[in-house]
Amino acid sequence: MTKIAFPQMGDYYIPATFLLSHIFPKDEIIKAPKITSKTIELGTEHSPEFVCTPFKYTLGTMIECIEKGAETLIQMGGGCRYGYYAELQEKILKDLDYNCKIINLVTEGTTSLKRINKLLKQINPKYSKIKALYYGFITIKMVKYMDEIDDYIRENIGFEIEKGSFESLKEEMLITFSHVNTYRQLYRAYKRYLKKFHKIKVHKPDNRLKIGIIGELYTIMEPFSNYFLEKELAKHHIEIKRFTNVHYLLFEKAHKYKKYKKYSKEYFTYSMGADASDNIARCKYLCENDYDGIIHIKSSFCTPEIGAMPIINKIADIYQKPVLFFSFDSATSETGIQTRLEAFYDMLEMRKDK
Ligand code: SF4
Repeated sequence: MTKIAFPQMGDYYIPATFLLSHIFPKDEIIKAPKITSKTIELGTEHSPEFVCTPFKYTLGTMIECIEKGAETLIQMGGGCRYGYYAELQEKILKDLDYNCKIINLVTEGTTSLKRINKLLKQINPKYSKIKALYYGFITIKMVKYMDEIDDYIRENIGFEIEKGSFESLKEEMLITFSHVNTYRQLYRAYKRYLKKFHKIKVHKPDNRLKIGIIGELYTIMEPFSNYFLEKELAKHHIEIKRFTNVHYLLFEKAHKYKKYKKYSKEYFTYSMGADASDNIARCKYLCENDYDGIIHIKSSFCTPEIGAMPIINKIADIYQKPVLFFSFDSATSETGIQTRLEAFYDMLEMRKDK
């Protein structure tokens, strides 16, 4: 029996645990602890100083998982520096005398079924490819349903009549999703919760503020790393639009890139890595549509987003839309974030009232 774990990111541990527990039923899946300041401290202590924050967060989570008994860690590399982080993290863990294996399913943003099959066999040679395909399909659907419902929540949570309705229903939905075994069960649960979410009473005034969040993908998807920005905005009765989620990264990004490139051809010609080019197009979209402001978030030392920022600034300037930039790292002050956010809302409200 192997003890398997993977780094934490948002609520995606639910589909990931679902998949791993069904394809490796005889192995133990260790749930990574929620990210806390201790996770960041651990990651920062053992990371190169100028590496970007997702490296530090995931390294910290890996150490916590190993301390909980994990022997095999699953990691995925993105289309930026993250593409070679798994190898570097494995070396750091070895230097720290942790005896564990890292399986990197995606290197430099690319992979194939053949490669995944070969790597999963390394975890347990008896694993069934057919089972993996079936449960992989359910997992993809689960991610899609979660992402769809999250989009609806973002648009409406700031206007719920009964405080906490969205959050408690979402918690209930995630528990239900974590107990399904078949696609039929998942689909039924999804439809049932979709109806329930639409039944939650909201009051959305016509003159409400609408903000688009763009930026670095990990910072956007892991609430702890963005200081729960979406929650903060919802508290101020703001409608939120966010584009990046796991379904987008896995299944939409490749074909949307061509559309984005055509739509914003005056601003970029070549891919800038990670989500940077996408964010330029999204910025233009938010400016051309009915959004009052844009918040761009990223981790410190994120080179693709550093390249995109002056272009985003230029677009916002052309369209006269306010844009707020946040760069987070392990030493960011929460009070500083609050102060800048408060000033941003006040300014948006004043513009709206003019
Ligand atoms: S997108 Fe930026 S912050 Fe995220 S992993 Fe890549 S370089 Fe690091």
